[in-house]
Formats: sequence, structure tokens, C-alpha cells
Amino acid sequence: DAPIEKVDPEIAAVLHDELERQRHTLEMIASENFVPRSVLTAAGSVLTNKYAEGYPGRRYYGGCEVVDVAENLAIERAKSLFGAGYANVQPHSGATANAAVLAALAQPGDRILGLELAHGGHLTHGMKLNFSGKLYGAYAYGVDPETFLIDMDRVRDAAREHRPAVIIAGWSAYPRQLDFAAFREIADEVGAKLWVDMAHFAGLVAAGLHPSPIPHADVVSTTVHKTLGGPRSGLILARDDEYAKKLNSAVFPGQQGGPLMHVIAAKATAFKIAATEGFKERQARTIEGARILAERLTTADAREAGVDVLTGGTDVHLVLADLRDSPIDGREAEDLLHEAGITVNRNAVPFDPRPPMRTSGIRIGTPALATRGFGAAEFREVADILAAALKPGADTAALRGQVHALADRFPLYPGL
Ligand code: PLP
Repeated sequence: DAPIEKVDPEIAAVLHDELERQRHTLEMIASENFVPRSVLTAAGSVLTNKYAEGYPGRRYYGGCEVVDVAENLAIERAKSLFGAGYANVQPHSGATANAAVLAALAQPGDRILGLELAHGGHLTHGMKLNFSGKLYGAYAYGVDPETFLIDMDRVRDAAREHRPAVIIAGWSAYPRQLDFAAFREIADEVGAKLWVDMAHFAGLVAAGLHPSPIPHADVVSTTVHKTLGGPRSGLILARDDEYAKKLNSAVFPGQQGGPLMHVIAAKATAFKIAATEGFKERQARTIEGARILAERLTTADAREAGVDVLTGGTDVHLVLADLRDSPIDGREAEDLLHEAGITVNRNAVPFDPRPPMRTSGIRIGTPALATRGFGAAEFREVADILAAALKPGADTAALRGQVHALADRFPLYPGL
């Protein structure tokens, strides 16, 4: 049983090169994070060998007594972390979790109402090429064209007009908190179910630094790998067991076959970590870092370079840089920052004047750097590097030197 370097040197090289890339660059994709070694160990474990269709104590395979312990721990920890009465830890990803939620709350052909994709919504909230747009009658509410904020009067108007079966609150690119109580009120008024997709901000909720959707929503879904800092996967929660049967059956056998028991074990570990004071402190640094970035990218100096921040700031772990007045578009900014050693993704701004392949924005997130140990001083340094890189004619080679030095001060996975 030879090591991977012998069996498959090409993939061994990929593993090595990716670790080096992660070590020497600054990861600022808002949906990414670094899992702790304990989570890596569980995710890369012999539990990958086990079939366990069904749920703990009710499996369709023998030999599940050990993996049942892992799944029960994951369920109990998820419930306790979020104050939920129900948890399903089996979804392979955020998208499959969302497919199961819709299957449980609506019938094919029913109407759903979510945030417009181009305004920060997610593919699974009704995009026309996604299952959600194909199976359901998808309608969207947008942000206010002046403030770029979600205006609850617009949500109410859209809900009254379209009478959806499900209203979706949640986003992939939005820098502010949502008013879950107002969403609940609108859902009740039109007789809709309320589904909150907290994939991006679940870590902030777990740390008590963002309002929880659990008391307001019929169902809450999330990914585990963004701010929450666990393995790549999904999770479904609810305040009680009202939809438990439907949700469980929608996940298995509705969406999936055998659960990924190694990932479920890694989720259990991640939920345990997310309940600690250290995790809370990290989420506080994550938000503080985003605020520092937003302040730096709204200075007179930044504005002179045509850079601004959508909504003027942030309450969460990301900043949406607004490049509508900059000669540099989103794609060029992404490339320039990549040259400087900072990884971000370009992002359309609502009502974007540039085409989708170019865009007028970039989404900049702080969770991965906060996990790496960055505090206010380092985020100020990063903010200065970002501001300099977004000025036309920037010396990206010099900035790359600064990025390397900064990254090297915070060793990632030492000894791995
Ligand atoms: N929901 C939201 C709000 C997201 O931002 C994402 C991922 O970007 C997902 C769901 C889907 O997660 P996954 O990529 O794990 O399918």
C-alpha cells in the first residue's frame, strides 16, 4: 500500500502545490476558509470507506454502529450550536441541502421568491439554469437602486404580486444583515413558508455576532465550509420537528444515496470548535477585518482612484468593492490582485453597467485570513495593499513582496 507520491505523483504534486499556494498567498474569497488539522484528519479518514444509507439507528447497511456515533454527535452539536430543534447533517453540499429544502417545502411548479442573482442571490434560489429555476416558478426581489440595500417594502410588494409558496432570505454577496422578523411577517401575510439560507454568515450566527434566523424561519440551510470553518458540505436546521420527516426524506432518498461519513465526522468536529470562545473571537476579528477594509476603500484617496464600497460599509465578513467609476473592471481587478498574491473573485454589482464576464465589482472576504490569525494591524496592512493594487499603474511586483512577507508571518499547516 504505497504512498501517494509513488502511486500517483501527478496528484501528489497537486496536493503539494496547492498547499504552497495557500501558504504564500492571501486568501480573500469570501466563501473560503482554512479548516483546522482536526477537521482535515476526520475528513481524510477511513470513514470514507463506509456505506450508511439511512439515518442513525435506521440504516440500510450493516456495520454502522461506529459511524452512527459520529452522525449523532454532529446532529446534537449542530442543534446545540444554533439553538435548533432539528438538524440534518447529511447534505453533501449547500446546493443539495437547498434542493432538499425546496423539495420539502414546495411542489414542482410552485412559485418561489428569492434575492435576484445579479443582486447577490444564489444559483439555488431560482436561477433559470439551476434546478430551482427549472422545477419551480422562480421570481426575484432586488435591492434598492440608490442604497443597494434590500428594501422590505419591495420584498412585500413582490410577495403580494407573485404569492410564492416559499420566500427565500439569504445571499452570496450582500454586506448587511437581513431583517428575519420582517421576512417572517411578509411570509405570513401571503401564506408562504420562510426559508433562510445562511450559508455565508452561519459562522457569525454561531458566534452570536449576527441575529439568528432559527426562531423566524420554517427551515434554515447552510454550508459548513464558509464562515463556519468546517469541511465542504451542507446542513439543514429548523427550530422544531414540524418538517423533520419531509426534510429527512428529501435528503435521503430524495436527493442523495449514501452519506459521506468522513465529512459528517469532520462536521461534528467543526461544530464542537464553533462552540468555543476561540471561535467567537475569530469571528469578531473576521467582522473587524471587513470593517477595516471597507473604511480603507471608502477614503478620499480610494474614491479618487474610482473605488468605493457598496452600501458604504459592511456588517459581515465581506466587502463589495464598487469599481463602476474605476477604469479597472472587476476582471482586471481580480487579475491584478492575483498577480499581487491576493485571491478574490470578481462580482457583478447590482445594475452593473459592465457585462457579466467583466463586472464592476470584486467581493473581498476576511474569514480565511482571520482563521490564519490576522488581527486589526494585519487587516490594515492588507487594506493598504488592496487600495494600492486597485490604483491604475500599481507596482504589483512590489505588492507581491509585501503579500509574501505578510503571509509568511502566519504559517499555515506547519509541518504538513
Ligand atoms: N447557498 C449560498 C447562499 C451560497 O453562497 C452557496 C455557495 O456559494 C451555496 C448555497 C451552495 O453551496 P455549495 O457550493 O456547497 O453547493
